[in-house]
Amino acid sequence: MTIKTTQITPTLYNYLISVGVREPEILAKLRDETFSAFPDDVQMQISPEQGAFFAMLVKMLSASLTLEIGVFTGYSSLSVALALPDDGKIIACDNDQESTKIALDFWEKAGVKDKIDLRIAPATDTLDSLIEEGYEGKFDFVFIDADKTNYSSYYNKALKLLRTGGVCAIDNVLWSGLPATNFNLDQDSQAIRDFNEMVYADKRVSISLIPIADGVTLARKCY
Ligand code: SAH
Ligand code: CA
Repeated sequence: MTIKTTQITPTLYNYLISVGVREPEILAKLRDETFSAFPDDVQMQISPEQGAFFAMLVKMLSASLTLEIGVFTGYSSLSVALALPDDGKIIACDNDQESTKIALDFWEKAGVKDKIDLRIAPATDTLDSLIEEGYEGKFDFVFIDADKTNYSSYYNKALKLLRTGGVCAIDNVLWSGLPATNFNLDQDSQAIRDFNEMVYADKRVSISLIPIADGVTLARKCY
């Protein structure tokens, strides 16, 4: 198949950022802070153009209630929170107290702390609690970005929690290209490959895999 998606060289990437992304200053500061605090983990954070893309999606969906699975230092949640209306809300799941301290600090600085309900626990437990609390069918947008071997479980619970027409965005679906190779795959790469095949076959959603950053699948709940 001919490749019609333009390959992003470093020069082209810088150009894309310079004319295509208006990154709010607070998000740029959060990237700097994350680099100082967790230099070995910065690649876990979503990219600036991805943050802008999610902000756009949230506006296009007229979202007011969103769910995030995998917060880290809060870049994706802050991108979404800034795009939500004043009475909008994010329920944010992570099991790590340390990195999410930075998230809490930046949500406060950005004036969006009251919009975000951070739940520190294994995400599966939080999602089960939300289903018990009556949140089924209530979310406009869900972002899945935590441990890869649990993606299928998060996805199936997220579909219950989404409203009809709501969108689930799943990060790292290209996983640096590994799932497309025939090499012996490690557990995470195999999990991503299995997950992608499962979503492809799932007729409950319409899908679009966007080759942005490490790949994002959008799955829109049709029922
Ligand atoms: N979306 C974030 C990056 C998330 S990195 C950003 O844009 O910055 C993945 C996060 O998932 C980490 O913070 C990690 O603590 C969290 N995580 C991993 N396993 C988890 C689990 N079982 N339950 C909840 N959170 C988990
Ligand atoms: Ca990610």
